Amino acid sequence: MRAAVLEGVEDVKVHDDVEIDKPGVGEVLVRVHSCGVCHSDLHFVDGSLPCATPAILGHEAGGIVEAVGSGVTGLAEGDKVILTLRRRAAAATTACAASTRSARSTRT
Ligand SMILES: [Zn+2]
Repeated sequence: MRAAVLEGVEDVKVHDDVEIDKPGVGEVLVRVHSCGVCHSDLHFVDGSLPCATPAILGHEAGGIVEAVGSGVTGLAEGDKVILTLRRRAAAATTACAASTRSARSTRT
Protein backbone atom coordinates (compact mmCIF):
# COMPACT_ATOMS: atom_id res chain seq x y z
CA MET A 1 0.00 0.00 0.00
CA ARG A 2 1.20 3.51 -0.76
CA ALA A 3 1.08 5.95 2.17
CA ALA A 4 2.51 9.19 3.48
CA VAL A 5 4.17 8.20 6.75
CA LEU A 6 4.95 10.60 9.59
CA GLU A 7 8.32 9.40 10.83
CA GLY A 8 8.94 12.23 13.31
CA VAL A 9 8.28 15.93 13.79
CA GLU A 10 8.18 17.64 10.35
CA ASP A 11 9.37 14.37 8.77
CA VAL A 12 6.82 12.89 6.32
CA LYS A 13 7.91 10.44 3.63
CA VAL A 14 5.91 8.58 0.98
CA HIS A 15 6.35 4.81 1.06
CA ASP A 16 5.09 2.41 -1.62
CA ASP A 17 5.55 -0.74 0.46
CA VAL A 18 3.52 -0.22 3.64
CA GLU A 19 2.12 -3.51 4.92
CA ILE A 20 -1.06 -3.59 6.99
CA ASP A 21 -1.61 -6.23 9.68
CA LYS A 22 -4.77 -8.29 9.80
CA PRO A 23 -7.24 -6.77 12.28
CA GLY A 24 -6.66 -7.76 15.89
CA VAL A 25 -9.12 -8.10 18.73
CA GLY A 26 -11.67 -5.31 18.54
CA GLU A 27 -10.29 -3.95 15.25
CA VAL A 28 -11.53 -3.80 11.68
CA LEU A 29 -9.60 -3.34 8.45
CA VAL A 30 -11.10 -0.66 6.20
CA ARG A 31 -10.22 -0.04 2.55
CA VAL A 32 -10.24 3.76 2.54
CA HIS A 33 -11.86 5.32 -0.50
CA SER A 34 -11.36 8.94 0.51
CA CYS A 35 -9.73 10.76 3.39
CA GLY A 36 -9.34 14.33 4.54
CA VAL A 37 -6.28 15.72 6.26
CA CYS A 38 -7.49 18.05 9.00
CA HIS A 39 -5.75 20.53 11.24
CA SER A 40 -5.19 17.87 13.92
CA ASP A 41 -2.96 16.08 11.43
CA LEU A 42 -0.97 19.27 10.90
CA HIS A 43 -0.47 19.48 14.70
CA PHE A 44 0.83 15.89 14.68
CA VAL A 45 3.27 16.86 11.93
CA ASP A 46 4.55 20.01 13.68
CA GLY A 47 4.78 18.22 17.04
CA SER A 48 2.32 20.44 18.92
CA LEU A 49 0.15 17.34 19.50
CA PRO A 50 2.11 14.25 20.58
CA CYS A 51 1.86 11.33 18.17
CA ALA A 52 3.55 7.94 18.26
CA THR A 53 5.57 7.41 15.08
CA PRO A 54 5.72 6.01 12.53
CA ALA A 55 2.10 6.96 11.80
CA ILE A 56 -0.12 7.25 8.76
CA LEU A 57 -2.16 10.40 9.23
CA GLY A 58 -5.67 11.14 8.08
CA HIS A 59 -8.52 10.23 10.38
CA GLU A 60 -11.59 11.58 8.63
CA ALA A 61 -12.20 8.92 6.04
CA GLY A 62 -14.80 6.77 4.39
CA GLY A 63 -14.43 3.26 3.08
CA ILE A 64 -15.49 -0.37 3.09
CA VAL A 65 -14.82 -2.92 5.84
CA GLU A 66 -12.49 -5.58 4.40
CA ALA A 67 -11.96 -7.73 7.48
CA VAL A 68 -13.24 -7.89 11.05
CA GLY A 69 -11.16 -8.88 14.07
CA SER A 70 -12.40 -11.11 16.85
CA GLY A 71 -14.73 -9.53 19.35
CA VAL A 72 -16.13 -7.00 16.90
CA THR A 73 -19.90 -6.86 16.77
CA GLY A 74 -22.16 -4.72 14.65
CA LEU A 75 -19.81 -4.50 11.66
CA ALA A 76 -19.24 -6.97 8.86
CA GLU A 77 -17.13 -7.29 5.73
CA GLY A 78 -18.58 -5.08 3.01
CA ASP A 79 -20.12 -2.48 5.35
CA LYS A 80 -19.69 1.13 4.30
CA VAL A 81 -18.20 3.10 7.22
CA ILE A 82 -16.92 6.51 8.15
CA LEU A 83 -13.87 6.93 10.37
CA THR A 84 -13.05 9.55 12.94
CA LEU A 85 -10.31 10.16 15.47
CA ARG A 86 -10.85 8.07 18.59
CA ARG A 87 -8.21 6.85 20.95
CA ARG A 88 -8.49 3.35 22.45
CA ALA A 89 -8.88 4.85 25.92
CA ALA A 90 -12.12 6.46 24.78
CA ALA A 91 -13.55 3.21 23.44
CA ALA A 92 -15.95 2.74 26.34
CA THR A 93 -17.36 6.26 26.39
CA THR A 94 -20.89 7.18 25.47
CA ALA A 95 -19.62 9.46 22.69
CA CYS A 96 -17.74 6.55 21.15
CA ALA A 97 -20.82 4.36 21.31
CA ALA A 98 -22.76 7.10 19.53
CA SER A 99 -20.02 7.26 16.92
CA THR A 100 -20.32 3.51 16.38
CA ARG A 101 -24.05 3.89 15.83
CA SER A 102 -23.29 6.59 13.25
CA ALA A 103 -20.97 4.21 11.43
CA ARG A 104 -23.65 1.54 11.41
CA SER A 105 -26.16 3.95 9.94
CA THR A 106 -24.05 4.25 6.79
CA ARG A 107 -24.87 0.67 5.79
CA THR A 108 -26.79 0.33 2.57
ZN1 LIG B 1 -9.87 15.86 12.41
